[in-house]
Amino acid sequence: MPASKQNNARLSSPVTILSGIGPKKAALLAKLGVFTLEDIFFLRPRRYEDRRNPPPLCDIEPGMITPAVGKITELEIDDGMMDAVISDKTGSVEIVWFTDKITFLREGMTIAVYGQVSDKYLVPKFTHPEFEILRWRKKPTLIGKILPIYPGTADLTQRALRKFVDTALYEYASVCLKEFLPKSIIKRRKMMSFHDAVIEIHHPKDEDTFIRARNRLAFDELFLLQAGIIMRRNSYSGTIHAQQLTTGGHFRTFMDSLPFSPTDAQRVAICEILEDLERTKPMNRLLQGDVGSGKTLVAAAAMLAACDSGAQSAIMAPTEILAQQHYLKLRDNFSRTGLNVALLTGSLKARERKKILEGIADGTINIVVGTHAVFSEAVNFHSLALVIVDEQHRFGVLQRNSIIAKGTAPHVLTMTATPIPRTLIMSVYGDLEVSVLNELPPGRTPVKTIALTPSEMRRVYTMIRARVKKGEQVFWVCPMIDDSERDLAAVNSTYERLSKILSGVRMSVLHGRLPVDEKSRIMQEFSAGKIDMLIATTVIEVGVDVPNASMMVIEDAGQFGLAQLHQLRGRVGRGKAESVCVLLENASITPEGRGRLAAMVESSDGFELAEMDLTQRGAGEICGTHQHGVTDFRIADIVRDEKILMLARDDARVLLENDPALTKEPDLRREVLRRLGGVLELAATS
Ligand code: ADP
Ligand code: MG
Repeated sequence: MPASKQNNARLSSPVTILSGIGPKKAALLAKLGVFTLEDIFFLRPRRYEDRRNPPPLCDIEPGMITPAVGKITELEIDDGMMDAVISDKTGSVEIVWFTDKITFLREGMTIAVYGQVSDKYLVPKFTHPEFEILRWRKKPTLIGKILPIYPGTADLTQRALRKFVDTALYEYASVCLKEFLPKSIIKRRKMMSFHDAVIEIHHPKDEDTFIRARNRLAFDELFLLQAGIIMRRNSYSGTIHAQQLTTGGHFRTFMDSLPFSPTDAQRVAICEILEDLERTKPMNRLLQGDVGSGKTLVAAAAMLAACDSGAQSAIMAPTEILAQQHYLKLRDNFSRTGLNVALLTGSLKARERKKILEGIADGTINIVVGTHAVFSEAVNFHSLALVIVDEQHRFGVLQRNSIIAKGTAPHVLTMTATPIPRTLIMSVYGDLEVSVLNELPPGRTPVKTIALTPSEMRRVYTMIRARVKKGEQVFWVCPMIDDSERDLAAVNSTYERLSKILSGVRMSVLHGRLPVDEKSRIMQEFSAGKIDMLIATTVIEVGVDVPNASMMVIEDAGQFGLAQLHQLRGRVGRGKAESVCVLLENASITPEGRGRLAAMVESSDGFELAEMDLTQRGAGEICGTHQHGVTDFRIADIVRDEKILMLARDDARVLLENDPALTKEPDLRREVLRRLGGVLELAATS
């Protein structure tokens, strides 16, 4: 190969640059998603076959998958089959090939085989193994090593794939796989070089070396992402400041008059937030807490710090029901503080709306509660210093730009009940701080969860009657995904059916299509205990807080995702009574759906369920399309590699603190831009 061709090769060069790959083979590789040299280098073996140590033949037993070496001592060709016996000093093993075409085999030859030893015969017998003839001074290719098995297609044999990879490694590894990590990190973390790590992935020496190589490459991906996120932040922060907020009288009065004492987790979260608020750097913090963990109190504390500093705060909720609930609760909580709380929703009459907008603009309103939708339009604040985003079950990070006003940015606290694994948050939003409410207020008993089939419906009715008799309340969630006409029919027909069966139980329907007034009236009646059972769509999924509700029935539960089931279940178990959640299967439930129900019965730990969800659905889907591409790792595993992620994050932070644009590490800088430039919208110049 001419040296010039080699020197011009890049990771992004097409596979046709390799000897032996023309347009036809390139088309086959394209089916595997392999287009460039880089794709070949990172074509990750699906699994490996350990063919290092052929055991003595006497140790070979039926059922094993193993290499073996021996001299052919018997050979018979008969009726389209070939039977052989190979022997060594210790014993012998039979082999059968279902062909009579291997005519070059002779008694007396030494061969290596690899394959499964059948357990269908009385004696150990390889059935149709791979084999090769071993010759004096020629290295075997099939045994004596750990062999990579690539994701193949019908048109591309393992042999061919191995050849492409090996050609790429042989011709271009030394040119293209140049080290890019800073020497200091390589040294401190005792890392294998980039070049060696890639080779090791294809040709592992042994377990330990392989793990070091794999971890090095996982570190690369996580480290480059962290570095990219910090670079992006460095490019826009520093210019925008937030108002410094400190606590005063309102805050103290409120905390002193709480009817309960905050949990330790709440105290810690409040402290973390107050520290952020005292800085000029805008807070960007996520408050993560399972349903019922008491996030509202933490939010209230933060808002009071804003009020005490003469600034306004806004809290955004995903739905009107939830906005209203926040509003009522906050107005109630703050009734003694003399603070002015207003509710801004899309359904306000023009005159009320105008009045509230004026109050927001002249600063007489201290706290504004509204829906996300309302705040997406321009609202003119007098002195907005804190925005609280109650995401509940969805999770996106606020577009700060839309609320940055006059060169100042508000502090932002995002609250979510979705227990997103920490690793995922840090990988995708590396510059987000996290507070976690990992304990529930005392006195809660975990919700008992059972999965039942429709044939056990009478048991459900009995349970409902018993609960209602005790004065407790019930949610009945109908099977649906959105508020389509079909869904409404389901709610209404369920209502009709159940009101016949459960006479004496006071019930109402609740769904997203009802007028807002109607919805809030029903919710208030339910809160006040005037309704025993609410037959609802998933509108109740978010934030509804009625501690007296102690039972939830979810119809056709298999069609909901784990995260959503967990959210729904969180509507009960908020009071003193021991709560129950009944998951009703449908005859057409999928195996995955059944698996989710089993997980729900098993676990009440939101984080555990979230990790299952993450492994089932993948990170991209959980984050939405918003950050698509960021978590598409080739090697790193976002759940399992938490330790590596922590190291990568620490190293990236230290490095970029001293060298914010990586000018001292041009190779690293180039690699960050090459891998993440597009996804993170990093500018190549600057
Ligand atoms: P979530 O985190 O789901 O938003 P909430 O803030 O709605 O939870 O709180 C759930 C319930 O727990 C509310 O009724 C709230 O008043 C109550 N609560 C919050 N903190 C405590 C506490 N430390 N002790 C007792 N009850 C609490
Ligand atoms: Mg809440």
